[in-house]
Formats: sequence, structure tokens, C-alpha cells
Amino acid sequence: MKNVGIPRRLDELGRIVIPIDVRRALSLNERDTVMFFLDEKSRTVILKKEFPSCICCHAADSLRQLPHGIYVCESCLAQLS
Ligand SMILES: [Zn+2]
Repeated sequence: MKNVGIPRRLDELGRIVIPIDVRRALSLNERDTVMFFLDEKSRTVILKKEFPSCICCHAADSLRQLPHGIYVCESCLAQLS
């Protein structure tokens, strides 16, 4: 793992800005979803970009976005209708 950027300070709500170099490296854009992984022993947090997938079958193709950032594929959507 490499050190990227300068130390960041959490704001009053616990938020930080992800350094632009990291966002570019991960192709992170506004509204993308990220997942946090915590290793308490080493006090390390890993941030991983999540790619949209169907909430039912986890397919990544032919997705329709529903409210609240939920995705359903066309096949599952047809079965639900
Ligand atoms: Zn599906």
C-alpha cells in the first residue's frame, strides 16, 4: 500500500475529502459508491470503489437505476413485473 496525498482532517460531521489523485486513480466521480473495509488491528481503512450491480442477481449488465441508488437488471425487473 502506498501513501497518497497529505494528511486530511475530519470535519465536524466526520467527513473528509478524498484527494483528487486518489479519485482519478480509481475513476471516482460524484455519486459513485464506495465501500469501507476496516482492519482494527492495524487501524487501517481501505476504500474500494463499488460498481453498480443488480440488487437481486448481482449482474452488472442492462441495469436500471431505481431511487436510493438501487440497481435492478432488466431480467430481474421483468420477473418482478
Ligand atoms: Zn438481476
